[in-house]
Amino acid sequence: MEMDRRKFLKLFGASALVGMLGGWEAVELLAPGEAEARYLAKVEALRAERWAMVIDTKKLDAETAQRCIAACHYMHNVPDIEDPKREIKWIWLEEFEHAFTGQNQDHIADRVQGIPFLVLCNHCNNPPCVRVCPTKATWKREDGIVMMDQHRCIGCRFCMAACPYGSRSFNWMDPRPFIKKGYPEYPTREKGVVEKCNFCAERLAKGLMPACVETSKGALIFGDLADSQSTVRKALREHYTLRRKPYLGTNPQVYYVV
Ligand code: SF4
Ligand code: SF4
Repeated sequence: MEMDRRKFLKLFGASALVGMLGGWEAVELLAPGEAEARYLAKVEALRAERWAMVIDTKKLDAETAQRCIAACHYMHNVPDIEDPKREIKWIWLEEFEHAFTGQNQDHIADRVQGIPFLVLCNHCNNPPCVRVCPTKATWKREDGIVMMDQHRCIGCRFCMAACPYGSRSFNWMDPRPFIKKGYPEYPTREKGVVEKCNFCAERLAKGLMPACVETSKGALIFGDLADSQSTVRKALREHYTLRRKPYLGTNPQVYYVV
């Protein structure tokens, strides 16, 4: 007798799940949603009251910095567009005088003058980009990460004008043809929307550190600023650090050991 489609799918679904969960004792988990809940519970997201990053410029060599950029841009499908007027960047290198405009001193150490600084969105505590967005396409999460929803972005670029760090890029054209090697776990964007670093929110949700931090061989530290025992707090206790343009009142949350 021919098995009807519904019965077949039911049987197939049960066998597949039993196989995945490793035995017939799993059959009782077939209640709707229970198997998914059990699976998701195994994924331990990284959480913080206030995420922050410390970049130790004494530990970061040029090659590692380039690897951090490559890892970030690969894992977020950032297109490789050479025209500087149309380029998209989430993390990149700047010289001291551009990264720390207005913070120059007459007699600054040669080492600091000469090195390129890794710069990215500062996930400011008081982000002007969020205040000006008319559609709430950009917002600050409770843990301090300044997010971006490309589906709500209408491309007005107010946020770009408001950000004093140039941390946001606008897609002047379809970025997809410029993605060298696609990364299937992160969505691509389209023409007419703004994008920027998201402190790897999608990786934190999976219990993973940001891609640049993982690639940095210890030069980039990421952790909870509200936790006095965290690695970022320890680094801030032990080293003198700079932040970009703190005089603007944005309260940036990326710190540089110089
Ligand atoms: S660095 Fe710019 S884009 Fe990032 S939160 Fe601050 S103002 Fe917004
Ligand atoms: S935190 Fe993630 S998104 Fe931000 S620069 Fe690092 S790798 Fe890129």
